[in-house]
Amino acid sequence: AKRQGRNNFQFYAEELAVQVSDRTAMEGALRKALGNGELELYYQPQVALPAGRIVGAEALLRWRHPQEGIMTPDRFIPIAEETGLIRDLGHWVLTTACRRAVYWHRTVDSPFKVAVNLSTRQFVRNDLPGELQRIVQDTGCRPEWLELEITESLLLGNDAEVGAALEELHDMGFAISIDDFGTGYSALSYLNRFPLDQIKIDRSFIQGFPADREKVELVKAIISIAGALQLEVIAEGVETSHQAEYLHAQGCRLAQGHLFGRPLPQDRFERLLAGNA
Ligand code: C2E
Ligand code: CA
Ligand code: CA
Ligand code: CA
Repeated sequence: AKRQGRNNFQFYAEELAVQVSDRTAMEGALRKALGNGELELYYQPQVALPAGRIVGAEALLRWRHPQEGIMTPDRFIPIAEETGLIRDLGHWVLTTACRRAVYWHRTVDSPFKVAVNLSTRQFVRNDLPGELQRIVQDTGCRPEWLELEITESLLLGNDAEVGAALEELHDMGFAISIDDFGTGYSALSYLNRFPLDQIKIDRSFIQGFPADREKVELVKAIISIAGALQLEVIAEGVETSHQAEYLHAQGCRLAQGHLFGRPLPQDRFERLLAGNA
């Protein structure tokens, strides 16, 4: 048994060493990718129900890896978050999204928002309002054209620094949306403590729809909470017209999901947008 234990330990130590070096290698590669222009933003339409007119887009990061092809963020965002590289990545995402928002506002004349995902690390010991102030100045983007998607975990830390940054961003005119709403945490008290504009219902609630009665009830409850607090509500992961119809009937005005369009490279998204006008 002792021998076995030692083997296990050795195995574990080796595994750990491999993981650490993988991470270091990945961080280096990712830093290079940022410099080499291998990162790309895809855009997924956000639509108004019931007709499905495009009213915005969520920017979703992709890595056009020379060997591996298109890599989705679940494979590299966690490493970028652990190593702190997410700040540089995040800066690139914000700048790129703002430039696109400016361009789209020249070509589309209806209100149009670009939603961008933010990591907790971008708020902590980092002057995000100052950073965004400079980005909007440099790109000519208006804060009203951007929607900042944050997660519940950022708010649950109830950090004074985070609260102050959100107040400042909100005062500047950025819309603030809570992503993956309803997953993992259940404290609702933060909803009126922070300057929020939108709740994004997590796709796990939409998935069981409408067969799963419990999920249907939860979605109804979320929509009614949003209404009571005068928050906009958007459903993500909408895949069937049945789901869309049901959400609309419950009072949900906005949706995003494969039914309306997958995340697309910029040029393809722009063709979709042109057809929408
Ligand atoms: P998220 O913010 O929840 O983004 C929505 C994810 O759901 C996207 O995955 C999207 O492709 C996928 N999705 C959209 N519609 C549907 C649908 O109808 N059905 C299903 N099954 N899935 C759908 P993606 O692009 O792989 O992004 C994964 C996560 O990576 C995002 O989840 C977000 O948390 C993170 N992420 C993406 N871009 C960025 C970024 O620029 N910065 C940061 N910090 N995180 C990002
Ligand atoms: Ca939106
Ligand atoms: Ca998101
Ligand atoms: Ca989400």
